[in-house]
Amino acid sequence: MKFNPADNIQDLQYFGEFGGVNPSISDSSTYTFLSAKTMFDTFEGNADGCYLYSRHSTPSNLYLGEALAAMEGTETAHVTASGMGAITPVFLQLCEAGDHIVSSRTIYGGTYAFLKNFTPRLNIHTSFVDITKLEVVEAAITENTKVLYCETVSNPLLEVADIKALAELAKKHHLKLVVDNTFSPLSVSPAKLGADIVIHSLTKFINGTSDTVGGVVCGTQEFIDQLRNVNDGASMLLGATMDSLRASSLLKNLRTLHIRMKQHSYNASYLANKFEAEGLKTVYPGLQSHPSHNLFSSMMNPEYGYGGMLTIDVGSSEKANQLMELMQHKNAGYLAVSLGFYKTLFSSPGSSTSSEIPEEEQQAMGLSEGLIRFSIGLDNDIERTYQVMKKCMVEVGVLKK
Ligand code: PLP
Repeated sequence: MKFNPADNIQDLQYFGEFGGVNPSISDSSTYTFLSAKTMFDTFEGNADGCYLYSRHSTPSNLYLGEALAAMEGTETAHVTASGMGAITPVFLQLCEAGDHIVSSRTIYGGTYAFLKNFTPRLNIHTSFVDITKLEVVEAAITENTKVLYCETVSNPLLEVADIKALAELAKKHHLKLVVDNTFSPLSVSPAKLGADIVIHSLTKFINGTSDTVGGVVCGTQEFIDQLRNVNDGASMLLGATMDSLRASSLLKNLRTLHIRMKQHSYNASYLANKFEAEGLKTVYPGLQSHPSHNLFSSMMNPEYGYGGMLTIDVGSSEKANQLMELMQHKNAGYLAVSLGFYKTLFSSPGSSTSSEIPEEEQQAMGLSEGLIRFSIGLDNDIERTYQVMKKCMVEVGVLKK
């Protein structure tokens, strides 16, 4: 049967202890044991179904983790307090002093900062490469390389990684391919294409209501057990644990992700086509003009579309700021970082979510100062929104009348 991430989520049934249609929330940080021996066994990781302490795991976190594992098609998953709380322990679990990472150079600014500024303190070094050039990726691999890292669709340039080809490369050189799939949930299933570990910031599309941060690591049981190990597990020891109340609300929001992604994709595709037709420099994986349009099409689960993210380049940061302020004033969206909300969000990555990347490197990768990143919302009538945006663009001189 064909892999369908949303059907896999839908097939999961969890009931509350009184027959509730949602699972009960585990509102405890610690758990009692009838015997001291079972407590000891649980510490040792040998007492399935027992809970010890909520930094380790909770029933609510496990429900959410299993739903996300079903979505990504991995054996299991571990939910965390934020996307960065998922990403950083994965690197620290896979690498030790002296090891090397090959990473895409267009990644979320926080991840970039962690690899560029933080892990070198632990003698873990990273080469940042153009992930779309496989020969460049391979040339960067050394005998110390342990991890190949990328985002399926990169933040903020919307470059697309060839997951299948990267997985083959990783296999050939005995590396772990770690993929951040935050921008393309449901649309792309990286583990099905060969990725070893799939990460999400749940803060974005998956939660979808901009009311919490959260993250997940999807992978094999063996790797997730390593992350949670009480003696040397990076997730367990660094402590970025999701709260049960949040896990419960995230699980409820996950139930509608497929409907939301279809609408995000529909609206983004509509606007991208309109913007491009107006002559604006527009980047959207669903546009024929996107350099990796065919690659994305070959990797995607088609019914969820090309995602809700697009960028335009309006030439200068002054123009970008004027336009964003005016669009917010006219209620076309909010001048805010983050993504995946019902409302359109826009920001200028060079001065916000990618400001950790030095200016020369921003230029080298094509991150221009006039770039505006849009997370397109769930607007009911996207033509109406387009008309508002177009008026704003004419008013600030980005488009001619
Ligand atoms: N990965 C991507 C692609 C992101 O865009 C972000 C945040 O913007 C993160 C990871 C980090 O997630 P969080 O803010 O939930 O820690």
